[in-house]
Amino acid sequence: MKIAILPGDGIGPEIVTQAVNVLNALDEKFEMETAPVGGAGYEASGHPLPDATLKLAQDADAILFGAVGDWKYDTLERALRPEQAILGLRKNLKLFANLRPAILYPELAGASTLKPEVVSGLDILIIRELTGDIYFGQPRGMRECPDGPFKGEREAFDTMRYAETEIRRIAHVAFQTAQKRSKRLTSVDKANVLETFQFWKDIVTDVHKEYPDVALDHMYIDNAAMQLVRAPKKFDVIVTGNMFGDILSDEASMLTGSIGMLPSASLDANNKGLYEPSHGSAPDIAGKGVANPLATILSAAMMLRYSLGKTEQADRIEAAVKKVLVQGLRTPDIYEAGTTKVGTAEIGQAVVSALAN
Ligand code: NAD
Repeated sequence: MKIAILPGDGIGPEIVTQAVNVLNALDEKFEMETAPVGGAGYEASGHPLPDATLKLAQDADAILFGAVGDWKYDTLERALRPEQAILGLRKNLKLFANLRPAILYPELAGASTLKPEVVSGLDILIIRELTGDIYFGQPRGMRECPDGPFKGEREAFDTMRYAETEIRRIAHVAFQTAQKRSKRLTSVDKANVLETFQFWKDIVTDVHKEYPDVALDHMYIDNAAMQLVRAPKKFDVIVTGNMFGDILSDEASMLTGSIGMLPSASLDANNKGLYEPSHGSAPDIAGKGVANPLATILSAAMMLRYSLGKTEQADRIEAAVKKVLVQGLRTPDIYEAGTTKVGTAEIGQAVVSALAN
């Protein structure tokens, strides 16, 4: 099986190196090939997503991605900025399902801004539709307002839309994922106000007929945003559209205290996927050897589980990460008094050692 390794910029190469070390320490061996992406791609060949990098990603069975971006590219025209690489990969590889687990290891309960009893042991999964909704709907733009009370003024507009196929396929991913967990699924919408999300709700309800073993409930986005901080452990799997998912998944990430702990997967219809930490390239700490690589290591575990069918190896990596936390090792972002502060390479090596034991 072939894995495309795309480290990217900033802390990307540092954290991806640790994840690759962990993969190399497994009994199962994988073919891995590395290519530049983001700012590194721009430096190498004048484009954030070089053709050779895209081809490698297309040919591979899965992609392990670090992060892209650096402030020094902020003056480039938008099409050449590092962040375009991730959008290009999502679009070209048709990665429509974004899975973001928010897990709070009991050892890190103190790192959350919420009370430990509210979040300790949290283990939820947000499934966000990634290629539709108001972020991609056409038409969009600015114009002179043609009618109504603001006629003649400048106005801006976007289009919220979902085709039936787009909702059905993400609903299937959500129900099948829920089947592998506690068989509970919450679909988040705004059906009380928006036509698009009444349609969403109707289609999800229809797809539910194929998964009678899963308990489905529907919740409005405003209530879901509130419940997520009030009683987050009541959720298990949440499925929602692109914009609501963007907001809810960031909210959920903060429940766990550190963005350095959160992996993610973006899948196509055949479970081929791109795996990356939920955070960015952290240029402020790049090169200092202090970045937390655990989100990337946990992303590699998700890759083994969802794209490569190696559930047992995925379990081993997750258990090794947990063991390192129990040992009290912490990068600065999750450090608390009474624990041991270590750097990127040390915590990565500790995960490798924990695997061996
Ligand atoms: P960021 O996630 O890179 O950093 C936010 C804060 O979290 C910083 O203080 C950073 O030091 C810290 N942080 C992030 N990851 C960490 C880790 N693993 N360990 C310890 N601390 C960590 O977000 P930002 O500063 O808003 O963006 C920086 C760059 O990353 C920008 O160019 C942005 O466009 C890009 N970005 C890329 C992606 C991606 O590649 N998918 C996602 C988000 C942002």
